[in-house]
Amino acid sequence: MEGQSNEDRVGISDFILYDSLTNEDIVENLQERFAKNKIYTYIGEILVSVNPYRDLQLYTEKYIADYRNRERYERPPHIYWVADTAHKTLARFGQDTCILISGESGSGKTEASKVILQYLAHNAAFGAGAAPAGSRQSRSIDRQRVRAQVDRVAEILIQSTSLLEAYGNAQTTRNDNSSRFGKYMDIMFDFKGDPAGGSMRNYLLEKSRVVHQQSGERNFHIFYQMLAGLPETERKRLGLPQGSLRDFAYLVQGGCAALGKEDAANFRKVTQAMDSVQFSSDEKDSCLRVTAAVMLLGNMEYEADPEDRSNSSVRVKSSCRQAVAQLAGLLRVPPDGLVKALTSRRIVTASDSVDKAYDLPQATYARDALAKAIYDRLFNFVFEKVNSALAAAGHFGSDGDKRRAIGILDIYGFEIFEINSFEQFCINYCNERLQQLFIELILKQEQEEYEREGIHQSASSLTGPSGPVRPAGRDLPAPRPAHDREFLARCEREFQQRPSPHFDSRKLSPADKAMQHERDFRITHYAGAVVYSVENFLDKNKDTLYQDFKAAAVQQWPEGAEASNRVQKRPPSAGLLFKQSIQALVQRLAGMRPHYVRCLKPNGSKQPGSFDSRLVEHQARYLNLLESARVRRAGFALRLPYPYFLQRYKLCDSPAVWPHPPPGMPPRDAARSSILARLQLDSEDRVRYGVSKLFVRHARTVFALEQARVRAL
Ligand code: ADP
Ligand code: MG
Repeated sequence: MEGQSNEDRVGISDFILYDSLTNEDIVENLQERFAKNKIYTYIGEILVSVNPYRDLQLYTEKYIADYRNRERYERPPHIYWVADTAHKTLARFGQDTCILISGESGSGKTEASKVILQYLAHNAAFGAGAAPAGSRQSRSIDRQRVRAQVDRVAEILIQSTSLLEAYGNAQTTRNDNSSRFGKYMDIMFDFKGDPAGGSMRNYLLEKSRVVHQQSGERNFHIFYQMLAGLPETERKRLGLPQGSLRDFAYLVQGGCAALGKEDAANFRKVTQAMDSVQFSSDEKDSCLRVTAAVMLLGNMEYEADPEDRSNSSVRVKSSCRQAVAQLAGLLRVPPDGLVKALTSRRIVTASDSVDKAYDLPQATYARDALAKAIYDRLFNFVFEKVNSALAAAGHFGSDGDKRRAIGILDIYGFEIFEINSFEQFCINYCNERLQQLFIELILKQEQEEYEREGIHQSASSLTGPSGPVRPAGRDLPAPRPAHDREFLARCEREFQQRPSPHFDSRKLSPADKAMQHERDFRITHYAGAVVYSVENFLDKNKDTLYQDFKAAAVQQWPEGAEASNRVQKRPPSAGLLFKQSIQALVQRLAGMRPHYVRCLKPNGSKQPGSFDSRLVEHQARYLNLLESARVRRAGFALRLPYPYFLQRYKLCDSPAVWPHPPPGMPPRDAARSSILARLQLDSEDRVRYGVSKLFVRHARTVFALEQARVRAL
């Protein structure tokens, strides 16, 4: 049976082989396999992975070699098969491929993407497309040069991880090294199939973490790494107090007041990675300065301004004056400008402009907004540096147009919390789009294969009642609402006029117990219904710094202000920017041949060996595993190239006709007349004969074949 080699007789290694499948079956089978350390299972070409939370020695050179150039049927399920297939598709057929990794936080997405990268880099180092031994010397010198470039690209891709993780990852209750951004990476290959460059994009950094963390969670790694790893003199130069973590308000919001064991060592890796991607010493210094500045900003406090008679406006606390000077130095802005920006905003009228002092909540908001904006920009800067290093290391010459890409997407899965806000809204929207793409691509892929193989079958029959849904979001008419509640009211009016099965709210359905607050509304996503709280939606969406502040922040930036950072009348909202970036992503992915890795978390306590069925079933539902299996199976349970079919089932035929195929007989006829006919499985309602592959309709036929094979063994 497919993927069911001798080494892998635990449970069922491919869900497609179930005649009928339920969510309980899925969980049960995953659990049985997990107990025997079989963390991978297929749904056809989709790989399901359960995080083992321990090193199972699955990523050794032996495994890499074992999966090179193998078909799926030949080895037990493994992520290397996915990586290898993506690479093969690209090298053999010159087609761009992408690997989409999804799952909830802590399920192993980022590890999966690293393992894939490791496989591809390794493949390159040992020359998937390497020149054959004994090639002429002149070619071999050229080869050496390319080899060096390939190694350089692989090195950057792998080394930059620690840098990007320092700035973009944090310890959360769900994952000690949780990526707080989505990442899409294109690895470019030359026409020989060697990595020749790459580029990356990031999505929606969770910048609110800079100023606030939930209980038990930390801020981004880099802050702690810097404090643990900076030499005394450097720390002094950057004006960071010598005391404990508690001296940094932004770092202890979640109550984690100790440095991690590996923070210092990781800081060394970060600085090495900076060298590796060729940060100049100036740029390195800017990063440290700006990171330190964010920490100092968090300590900025306000007090009532004694000169203000209304007693509402505030000024920077006198005990913070020293820190203000330090901060201005780090940010390279004039101190009084900074103070002004921290305590007041400029209001411009037609004829005049006045400074209006902040009250305490406004000032605090402004301070935090600045910290978040600076950090966000710093993160993007680091990202872009890695990108330019990759671009510089690439070796595209005249074959530039022959380059092919493998895209890897590591992005947060569907999220449902106790209270769901704007962030969940965006993340779930993104998942909704990707799911839609998934269905579209599968249909397209199926249809193409049927056509290629000359099978008359329509793939459109695959869209069942639970097929693709339109994203629920609609654009709201201008002018923009001023308050969250007003925004919600407007949505309600809109959906009252044009009702949608995907939108509901407390006001529209007062009797609905799931929505307890006035602020609640519900969106029915493909994976299920989510109740969102509209509170802070507008603020998070607007995401603007007070304008003059932004100007101050932009000035100091090492790269200077890009066009998009110019102070605009009404900058695009965070939601719109996110939507656009997801649209661009989907457009890119739509042109590629997709592979999927679905990651599951076995328990909520980051423990090896424990499997919580309820938790897994919940994830299986949101990852739509059942639906995936249904779609995959709707056409045919199994499709096998004739040579593989003959190889595997030749035993079922009488020895008289060996070897297979009999001389002169095309493999297709051999499969049909000598094996399938003999087993009485040859009728068209059981199997269809494509040009190069045999299509088996039902799982029970596959089982019958398997049984016949076992009998013959
Ligand atoms: P995600 O990116 O989905 O949030 P990660 O990839 O960061 O999750 O995985 C969380 C942790 O789980 C990792 O730090 C690692 O300790 C463990 N882990 C994940 N995948 C594997 C794996 N294949 N083998 C062993 N441990 C793993
Ligand atoms: Mg991650």
